[in-house]
Amino acid sequence: MSDHRDRLRVAVQKSGRLAQDSLALLRRAGLAFRESRDRLFLYGENLPIDVLLVRDDDIPGLLQEGSCELGIVGRNVYAEQALAATGDAFPLESRALGFGHCRLALAVPDGGALASVADLAGLRIATSYPQLTARWLREQGIHAEVVLLNGSVEIAPRLGKADAICDLVSSGATLLANQLHELATVLRSEAVLVRAAQVPSAAVANQIERFCGRIDAGLSGHGARLLMLQAPRSALAAIERLLPAREQPSVLGLDGRPDDIALQALCDAQLDWQHLEELKRLGARALMVLNVERMLA
Ligand code: ATP
Ligand code: ZN
Repeated sequence: MSDHRDRLRVAVQKSGRLAQDSLALLRRAGLAFRESRDRLFLYGENLPIDVLLVRDDDIPGLLQEGSCELGIVGRNVYAEQALAATGDAFPLESRALGFGHCRLALAVPDGGALASVADLAGLRIATSYPQLTARWLREQGIHAEVVLLNGSVEIAPRLGKADAICDLVSSGATLLANQLHELATVLRSEAVLVRAAQVPSAAVANQIERFCGRIDAGLSGHGARLLMLQAPRSALAAIERLLPAREQPSVLGLDGRPDDIALQALCDAQLDWQHLEELKRLGARALMVLNVERMLA
């Protein structure tokens, strides 16, 4: 660990399900970077921030040992390692990032005798998430054996290695293909921003604040639409009821047209053609919808 460093380091998955969305998030926060020749590092060109490209499982540990200050990792990986962690410098979960959604779920073979969670008592559950599985079993008051497997967990029941599994699911297609079905959700997961408990310098602490502010602005602006229109003043209440607006719209008067207003509303991504058609029926004109690229509250 370098004892003094002025550049913030952010660890993200090098390749895999979180890699692309993680880099897209960094770009949306305004970071432009150049790749190192060994493809392990991205040098921030416009901000004092560098990106480490690593395996997702290594991210909490890199933060704990002081090699990086921020990381993007699935809550499933973070929470599993947090439960196993020793020492007091384990990173903290700071924000959910809205991508990489999946769940850690308990699943059992189709057509078997296992119909409810209580039926798991005394049985073997295969998983790559022994800590989270054991904690959930404790919470449910069930005594069962947790069998640690580091891959192909879904075939464990057919191989006779376990009676049930606890594994990541998103669409459920893998379970279906392996004649398994879900019995319970153990953890809801998505990509999260994790933050080191310690920082190497005041400059890095500053960068973290600035960067997190931009991430928040990116998260709240993401998917937002700005709606602009003109309408008869008498239709205003009906228009406001119709809009998926995030906050009170701005309403302006129009020069020389006392019966009309101009309106600007920040709306959610769900604002669609149907909304626009209904607005038109209410008398709105000059309708315009713009995607919001940046927002700072
Ligand atoms: P690495 O090589 O970095 O160790 P990996 O094989 O462990 O990669 P991926 O399969 O790329 O990891 O998954 C990364 C994360 O994506 C998971 O930890 C989880 O948070 C999330 N994820 C989203 N949907 C799924 C899914 N259907 N199955 C597995 N992970 C998913
Ligand atoms: Zn991994």
